[in-house]
Amino acid sequence: MKKLIFFALSGAAALGAFAQAQTPAATPAKVTPKVESAAKVIERAQAAMGSAMVNSLAFSATGTGTTFGQAYLPTSPWPKITYSNFARHYDYANAAMSEEAARVRAEPNGGGAVPLMGTGEQKTSGRLSGDFAWNMTPTPSASPRDVDGRIHDLWTSPHGALRAAANYNAIVKKVTLNKQAMTTLGFTVPGRFAAVVYINARGMVAGVDSVMPSPVLGDMSVTTWYDDYKDFSGVKFPSRIRQEMAGHPTLDVAVSSVQVGTSLDATVPDAVRNFKENVVATSAADGNSLGVWFLAGGSHNSVLIEMADHAVLVETPLYDGRSLAVLAKAKELLPAKPVRYVINSHHHFDHAGGLRTAASAGLTLVTSQAAKPYFERALANPNRLRPDALAASSAKWSVEGVSGKRVMTSGVRTVEIYEIKDSVHAQGFMMVYLPLEKILIEADAYTPGAPNAPTPAKLNDNHLNLAVNIQANSLQVARFLPLHGRMVDAAEFNRAIGQGQ
Ligand SMILES: [Zn+2]
Repeated sequence: MKKLIFFALSGAAALGAFAQAQTPAATPAKVTPKVESAAKVIERAQAAMGSAMVNSLAFSATGTGTTFGQAYLPTSPWPKITYSNFARHYDYANAAMSEEAARVRAEPNGGGAVPLMGTGEQKTSGRLSGDFAWNMTPTPSASPRDVDGRIHDLWTSPHGALRAAANYNAIVKKVTLNKQAMTTLGFTVPGRFAAVVYINARGMVAGVDSVMPSPVLGDMSVTTWYDDYKDFSGVKFPSRIRQEMAGHPTLDVAVSSVQVGTSLDATVPDAVRNFKENVVATSAADGNSLGVWFLAGGSHNSVLIEMADHAVLVETPLYDGRSLAVLAKAKELLPAKPVRYVINSHHHFDHAGGLRTAASAGLTLVTSQAAKPYFERALANPNRLRPDALAASSAKWSVEGVSGKRVMTSGVRTVEIYEIKDSVHAQGFMMVYLPLEKILIEADAYTPGAPNAPTPAKLNDNHLNLAVNIQANSLQVARFLPLHGRMVDAAEFNRAIGQGQ
């Protein structure tokens, strides 16, 4: 486990963004050989930060952030949002955390569950307790793919990082960054993240360079800056927090209040503790000789399409856990017809979180031409922190890019893949149409509302854009298989866009 951190610790080339931002590229950090023990360094920093007795700490802030993993183009920065509230509660004694936020879009393009630009604020509420993560929606809803991020945020927080350094046998180094003497504490929380904590001459945690596993990217770099420390009733806490994930900003907030010593209810709800990925298959093309199954049962759906001698899967979402369950269901439904292709609706991380899983099974991934080079790089990146299905596989995978339209045919079945053009949600946004069955499969362009909901007063721009694309390609859609929510007939979509009764 100690080996892992060395790729972040040793040599200037391996320095993370924190070190790079402080050091001109030509002047690598100097490492001096004689250092104090980790215990001494931690003790000194805890005394300076008043944190020896900090078992819990809550702060609230305002500022800006981004929707991580929801870029408009695969390589563009994460879409900007504004936080009217960003509050975290760290409970170190119980290994628990909460995050409450209120946010609006600050730019029209890109994904995420945040309402479209100018259409309102979204409140989010997330929890962590031990190895469980969940979101209040408003009832507790298990979110396994948030576990790593929240464990990372709890134990790379200013006071949490010192505790984690003590618990995980940190290695001390002395470095000079931008003519400033810094002490670093390098450690790995096995299977979760590796971190280098920078402590400045005043004994404050100035920042953290870390690496954590991402379902899409494998090992992913994160940098967190803690600036402008202030005294909050004897405890020092940064008044500005900035963070960058996978090379793009995710957070820049000003802290307005800090409370110490209020513990958090760390009880894990039964629904979260007992959560298991559940894939519910419903036939979507009754009466056909070749089947189509809507695979639901979670926050993200997939669709299995039977061909003459193989199968095509639309979407492997979220993470290995969900996508392995989806692939297992496909095998159960069509034992004699192996899945050969996985069509990815678009590059957003929630929809692409199982592409590494699909690659581990040696499948051909079909995505937009815009996302092809991005995924080829991401799939080649190792996942050393917590080896995933891909890391354990020697299967050969490949990525095919689609621009405009691609048709797959076999026997009596035709599958058409189209690019949804001019969407604010994403570029390289694909939909799948089965012309014989008049079925349209799409993600995020249209998620059905409540059954029998009336036409909204303000029509949704994503819905309208989808209607334009359906028309432009002369698709005769009778049924929608959305990758979020329910399977619905065209009449329901028409009602949502103000057409039909
Ligand atoms: Zn999306």
